[in-house]
Amino acid sequence: MNIQNLARENVRLLTPYQSARRIGGNGSVWLNANEYPEATAYQLTEQNLNRYPECQPVQVIQRYAAYAGIKPEQLIVSRGADESIELLMRAFCEPNKDAVLYCPPTYGMYSVSAETLGIERRIVNSKKDWQLDLPAIKEALNGVKLVYVCSPNNPTGNLINPDDIRELLAMTAGRALVVVDEAYIEFCPKASVVSWLSQYPNLVVLRTLSKAFALAGLRCGFALASEEIINLLLKVIAPYPLSTPVADIAAQALSDQGIATMRQRVIELNARRDQLIKTLSACTCVTDVYPSETNYLLFKLTDSEAAFKTLWDQGIILRDQNKQPGLKGCLRISIGTQAECDAVTDVLQTF
Ligand SMILES: *Cc1c(COP(=O)(O)O)cnc(C)c1O
Repeated sequence: MNIQNLARENVRLLTPYQSARRIGGNGSVWLNANEYPEATAYQLTEQNLNRYPECQPVQVIQRYAAYAGIKPEQLIVSRGADESIELLMRAFCEPNKDAVLYCPPTYGMYSVSAETLGIERRIVNSKKDWQLDLPAIKEALNGVKLVYVCSPNNPTGNLINPDDIRELLAMTAGRALVVVDEAYIEFCPKASVVSWLSQYPNLVVLRTLSKAFALAGLRCGFALASEEIINLLLKVIAPYPLSTPVADIAAQALSDQGIATMRQRVIELNARRDQLIKTLSACTCVTDVYPSETNYLLFKLTDSEAAFKTLWDQGIILRDQNKQPGLKGCLRISIGTQAECDAVTDVLQTF
């Protein structure tokens, strides 16, 4: 029996998401997944696991809504922002008929989710300055139901011009949703478009606890949108998407104390990032360090492959961005602890 032939054709052809964990490496310094470098301790307050959890844990919803400045009805909590990326496709895109549009270089899961579900991918590369190519997007909108815009963008670190997002929202009004992925917005909170939700019925904002909240291992993310959109997503989400311990810890992370701790982390990480920009720029093997509003930096080297391998062999794992359009010679580094950043610059200074 040929199991391969039984599988769906698009799954046979699929290249799975190359997550930092899948790529592997024998690292001691992990700077390839934009995680927070140190763990916060949590206590489980809910010890009973014999019952199913709430589908949408009320305390998590209420606290996140208060944090984001929206109504609890405008929010769904999911197994990471990644699940929300896919829920939107499942709720809005007919396989083999509708399309999703996104603008590389950008986050890889928009593509992987669409491919898995058999939804057409409409790819419009961003301009040289990593801003949206609005005329090209306009030309490509036929049959598109979802436009994913990552701001600040992963892996480039820049914000998308708010005026361009407004133009995109107007251009797609009545025919497609604009999904603004704000996974890193805590590092530049003023840039959030969440307050636009009341003006634009076709806007969706994605958020996560994986980055500034230092909880990548928890798997907890959110989609913020109109109540009508949220109700459609609630139809297709799994009956128990978050386990009881996840809801318990997420609620603690979203307490006043938890949010204050996150904000303190952001201040420290942003300062360390700005210092790392200077140190990397002074390395002769580095030709460009791009501005960043996030907890990572994209930088260009004279020989990125050799630098990547030299660091890798010393257990320092960065993220190679060579394969993304326009990013030849570029690596991405997550801002780690001071010691981890020093380990990288020590190698690159003598490289
Ligand atoms: C990390 C990341 C996510 C995924 O977040 P999870 O909540 O961990 O699934 C989504 N979008 C972008 C741009 C990311 O970098």
